Amino acid sequence: MAELLKGKPVADAIKEDLVNRVAALKAKGITPKLGFIRVGERPDDLYYEGGAKKTCDGIGIAYEVFAYPEDISQEEFEKAVIAVGANPEINGILMFSPLPESLDEKKIRSLIPVEKDVDCLTVGGAGKVFTDDLTGFPPCTPTACMEILKHYGIPLQGKRVTVIGRSLVVGKPVSMLLMRENATVTICHSRTVNLLAVCREAEILVAAIGRAKMINADYVREGQIVIDVGINPDPDRPGKYCGDVDFDAVEPLVAKITPVPGGVGSVTTAVLCKHTVMACEMQNGLA
Ligand code: NDP
Repeated sequence: MAELLKGKPVADAIKEDLVNRVAALKAKGITPKLGFIRVGERPDDLYYEGGAKKTCDGIGIAYEVFAYPEDISQEEFEKAVIAVGANPEINGILMFSPLPESLDEKKIRSLIPVEKDVDCLTVGGAGKVFTDDLTGFPPCTPTACMEILKHYGIPLQGKRVTVIGRSLVVGKPVSMLLMRENATVTICHSRTVNLLAVCREAEILVAAIGRAKMINADYVREGQIVIDVGINPDPDRPGKYCGDVDFDAVEPLVAKITPVPGGVGSVTTAVLCKHTVMACEMQNGLA
């Protein structure tokens, strides 16, 4: 039986720390504020927004939703994003992505001020993450993986870590963050030859693939630690979610594993709040 690396205790510890930091800011007359930028009403976006608002409420972070119709023009939306970016009350910005195809997302992202980019949507933000500049905010999901590893006291220095996935949202940034902690990281993708062997060789395996239950018992070995980033519709249980790891097959074999749901995904909104508070502290010269 593997130890379950549950997300809730990690999120609770982050929130507890933030409650104190927000109280200290409020004592100075400052309230951290998060701005959501949303185009349209995609159910996934609304679900995430609802969860994030609840987490903000629990910590004392203010927020404002800037919502726009799906047929907004490029020009109008650019003006709107520039205005949110220039709003002195807003410390952090989360823009839901992808934007509708009618909008030039690359251009829009570049309009978000880097110091307010709490989910690493800008090239400037990514540049900071990839150059180990600690004033930049990595995306919330890879940061959630790191928070879980830290919370459960899992040493990373010198460890062999295999990351499956090379997206800019998860695979690449989590690899950078692991390297920052002196892990030896192998990044795999759809063209990796002999993926099974590369996975089995690792001491820690991070799955960020987007394929339900792909990592089965063949990919793992005794003693491994498995971080499952995947969130996929469960092909065996309609209406439920599952990870990129076949939990039932892998859990009896490995030492520690994050569950899905209840693992990485349950830490991301706490990280979003942490980044917003950090942004507020930095913008006020307090960090
Ligand atoms: P992407 O689709 O952008 O990237 C998937 C990566 O997996 C790519 O690098 C791809 O390789 C690789 N891949 C796909 N198939 C294979 C294969 N058969 N063998 C090896 N590698 C493969 O996904 P994301 O990075 O955005 O997301 C990954 C997962 O994490 C998804 O399940 C997503 O739902 C979940 N997620 C969870 C979040 C959370 O809060 N927990 C937030 C964000 C994402 P290649 O580059 O060659 O195509």
